[in-house]
Amino acid sequence: VSLRINQVVANSILTKSKLPIADYVINPYIGCMHACAYCYAKFIGGFTGHAKEPWGSYLDVKLFNPEKLRRQLARLPVGTSVFLGSMTDAYQAIERKQHATRRILEASLPCSVGLSTLTKSDLVARDVDLWSQIPWGSVGFSISTTDDGSAAIFEKRCRPVSKRLEAMETMHRRGIDVFAFVGPILPLVTDLRKTMSIVAKCCGGVMAGALNLRCGNRANLEAALSTRAPDIKNDFFRLAGDPSYWQGLREEYHHLCNTLGIRNLGFLDYSGVMDSKASEREK
Ligand code: SF4
Repeated sequence: VSLRINQVVANSILTKSKLPIADYVINPYIGCMHACAYCYAKFIGGFTGHAKEPWGSYLDVKLFNPEKLRRQLARLPVGTSVFLGSMTDAYQAIERKQHATRRILEASLPCSVGLSTLTKSDLVARDVDLWSQIPWGSVGFSISTTDDGSAAIFEKRCRPVSKRLEAMETMHRRGIDVFAFVGPILPLVTDLRKTMSIVAKCCGGVMAGALNLRCGNRANLEAALSTRAPDIKNDFFRLAGDPSYWQGLREEYHHLCNTLGIRNLGFLDYSGVMDSKASEREK
């Protein structure tokens, strides 16, 4: 697959959010070079002129005016939540030289918004100086498995998960509000107990999420498993479609939060519903 990187001029990159996770979202990039087989965001290609291009084969870098963004953020009420990277990962490899995400963080510094992100890249630790100054800032790391080899089956162009864990620890030690998203949980691949035990040591809270097969990702998952793990393919899909399997994992997740003393941020089930009851119990 050839990779194409374009630059597009963005009049504004701050968008009112339709998601429950935040009041506003900022996506510095369109597309995602990480090309995860289970990605839920690939549908966005149909709305951004990339309908015919495979997910992971294109990336549009948004060119924006940081001063305009600073003024927009300054007008928001104190504590407004802004999520960075709802349809991409804000820490693409090109961010290393592009600095689009870094400029967004700089623009948000004089403002009092609650900025958060969720990433699969250890590049986020480059910005530890800025994240540590952002009021109500929080940085999440997606981790489906702590095994680099298993992760590579599904996350073919992500940085190794071992690097992610190092970055988590660095940022947690610097006092940043770090959380782990253990997900998507991959049947026969994710060892929930092991993963939660490891991430618990380097973050302030954990949420978990079931694999959702309703996002047009089945073909990509089939291709990844056929090539890299054909022995588990049939059972993987059988379990992924079994509600009782997910119910068992949900219970295990809540049990592990209690026994490991982890702040429970909730369990997102395979139909996209957050189990908030347990979160309430934890308060
Ligand atoms: S990092 Fe996130 S947005 Fe990017 S391909 Fe993976 S799941 Fe999709």
